[in-house]
Amino acid sequence: MSVPTLRHSSRHEWLVGACLLALLGLLASAVAGGLPGAETVPVQLAPAGPGPDAPITADGQGLVVDGRSADAVVRMHFTLPQRADRDDPWVVWIERKPVERVQLARDEWSSSSRGFFSPRTGVGPLPTGYAFALPYSWQGDVDLELRAAGDLPAVLRPRVVANAEAWRMERQGVAISATIYASLFTLALLALALFSAARDRLFLTLFGCATLTLITLSAINGHLYQVHGLRWLAAWGVQGLLALQFLLCASLPQLLLRYASTRRLHPGITRGIDIACIAMAVLAAVCLLDLQPLVRWLLPLSLLSRAACALACLWLVLDAARRRLPMGWPLAILAVLTIAAGTGRQLMLWGYLQDLAWLRSGEQLALAGAMAILAVGVINRISDYRDQRDRDQLARLDSERRMQREAARSDLNAAFQVKLRSCAEGDIEWTAFHLLLEHLVPLVRAGKAVVVARGYHGRNVQVSVPAARKAEAEAFLAKRELSLKRHAANGIPLQQPLSAGDDGALAMEALVPLPIRAPAWGMLLLERAGGEGFTTEELALAGEFIRLALVHVDQALTAIQLRRSAELDALTGTFNRRTIDQWLVRSFGEAERDGQPISVLFVDMDHFKAINDKYGHACGDHCLRTVAQALRGSLGEGDLLGRYGGEEFIAVLPARGGAAARMVGEQLRADVEGLMLEWEGQPLRLTVSVGVATRLHNELPAETIDRADKALYAAKRGGRNCVHVAPAVFS
Ligand code: GH3
Ligand code: MG
Ligand code: MG
Repeated sequence: MSVPTLRHSSRHEWLVGACLLALLGLLASAVAGGLPGAETVPVQLAPAGPGPDAPITADGQGLVVDGRSADAVVRMHFTLPQRADRDDPWVVWIERKPVERVQLARDEWSSSSRGFFSPRTGVGPLPTGYAFALPYSWQGDVDLELRAAGDLPAVLRPRVVANAEAWRMERQGVAISATIYASLFTLALLALALFSAARDRLFLTLFGCATLTLITLSAINGHLYQVHGLRWLAAWGVQGLLALQFLLCASLPQLLLRYASTRRLHPGITRGIDIACIAMAVLAAVCLLDLQPLVRWLLPLSLLSRAACALACLWLVLDAARRRLPMGWPLAILAVLTIAAGTGRQLMLWGYLQDLAWLRSGEQLALAGAMAILAVGVINRISDYRDQRDRDQLARLDSERRMQREAARSDLNAAFQVKLRSCAEGDIEWTAFHLLLEHLVPLVRAGKAVVVARGYHGRNVQVSVPAARKAEAEAFLAKRELSLKRHAANGIPLQQPLSAGDDGALAMEALVPLPIRAPAWGMLLLERAGGEGFTTEELALAGEFIRLALVHVDQALTAIQLRRSAELDALTGTFNRRTIDQWLVRSFGEAERDGQPISVLFVDMDHFKAINDKYGHACGDHCLRTVAQALRGSLGEGDLLGRYGGEEFIAVLPARGGAAARMVGEQLRADVEGLMLEWEGQPLRLTVSVGVATRLHNELPAETIDRADKALYAAKRGGRNCVHVAPAVFS
């Protein structure tokens, strides 16, 4: 369980608090409204015997029961007026206090004995007082003996009232008690339901407290002993009552501690409260064990523990209110009311205050109200948990999404590295954009996506997903090409609702420009069905993936160019000697495997030194480039041409030998001879000599080249501008 965050009491909480307080006020006013009716006869108490210390209160209105189980006796004197209604006799009514027995007697008449722990049938389920109906025949001056005894000190204030008035007081008591019990019972049920729903021990504590309060209050009122199945509890008498009070005093601060979640308090304080609560629970056990030597200490200890419990609760509640916990302030007000009413009731029991209805029930009403408000405050915490849970869930989703994106990013990186490396030069852009869409579209939940690039590395590229709707995408793009180009120049991603189609379906479109250099331009279009727009995060992700794609395209192209420059001769653009040597080994291997002939042609320019000398190196270079171009043009698709040395070229002709190779050599020679070259306005004539050698069985490339070189030498000797085929063996 998390420590609740500091919250500002919302208006809603105040409303609940105000409603409960108003309800309490209504009940209190109903109680106050039940003032004694007119039909009351004044009673005087007088000593029953000659003894000096009659058990009468200072104001002469109450009989003092001293708590020593011996009968206290006083004489009641009153004058009964004549009554018209036979059904409405006079009644002696005494508020119900925990006394063992109370009885009236006069000459030969005596009432039945009543007692707090000995329930009597026929008094209703929730009796409020001890009512003794007087014989109808009694009129005029009446003297009665009132006897009472009990284990607790108490003051009994007998009243003589009309029967109707006694009933009114009973009914009022029943209404108040029923309200208190019903609300506590409902609270207990609610707490149990909340515990089964939220599995929070706080609700279990609330349930325990509400149940214990219900039992304790019904015991204090004497109603518990009226319940059939619970009468045996009366066997404990006053001790049982005290035990329940100790338990209640132990449990209330525990509930408040959990409600206020005062973990941040000084641990000593919480430990002190815990120890006090344990001590009270032990005292409750002592009460029930009926340990005689301790009995006389239990009453003062019970008063002490009630005072300590009241102080602890008040302090906890005020702390909660100061920290603005839900319902903190209404609870603080009710705690003060409860303590005030409790003090008043205790003073009434001791005889310092009159028997007033609000003193009788005020404490219990306030306690029930406080429990209800506490329940509201505790339930309020559920919304805290829910907020916390929502926050946790959001954070988890966020981190999941982040991880998913991170994974997609590294996947995309790997895919670029693997696929673009093996890609033909012309396919690199297309492949990169295709991979981009493949990885991006599921992440941003786009239904359709297109990448369009114009003039990018001199190419127009267009990739769309799903591929099945390529034609549709192309038609759509053709219509918008101009506006897309204009927007691409802005370089800022944007999204807009797409005008509803024929089916009236809504869609959102995001446009993310490709950061490529003008005049080239490019754009990524994402389309999502429904009105939900793309988040900034999604657009940023699209932008990031695009940049990744462009970086990888550039890298792949650079790699290709590097590879090529290592293979080619810089001046003529034909293969260099290293590449030709590698190719020769490979081609000779293939020819051997396939049983095919292969020929090597050595081509050397005639009197080239003279051209260099006469026209300069620039002219020589120009001639070399022109001749290389002419030779390339004369060769077939599968033939290779390379520059082998200064002005020597080599051609490799797979699948040709002998006469065919010679014909090619002848062709090369003729083509160079036919070149119309000019340098600074002067015509130039170039010729080449060609040496041809066809691979012999088991011959290595170096050996064939050597024979071709010798054949070339022979051609030079033979007068140049001619072709010589190498024999198997030079003589
Ligand atoms: P021959 O008919 O016997 O082959 O006579 P030749 O003048 O061509 O003789 P040789 O093969 O010995 O001369 C090669 C000349 O080619 C020497 C050098 O000046 C020139 N040469 C070699 N490489 C280059 C080059 O890259 N550029 C230029 N301009 N000239 C080159
Ligand atoms: Mg030469
Ligand atoms: Mg040469």
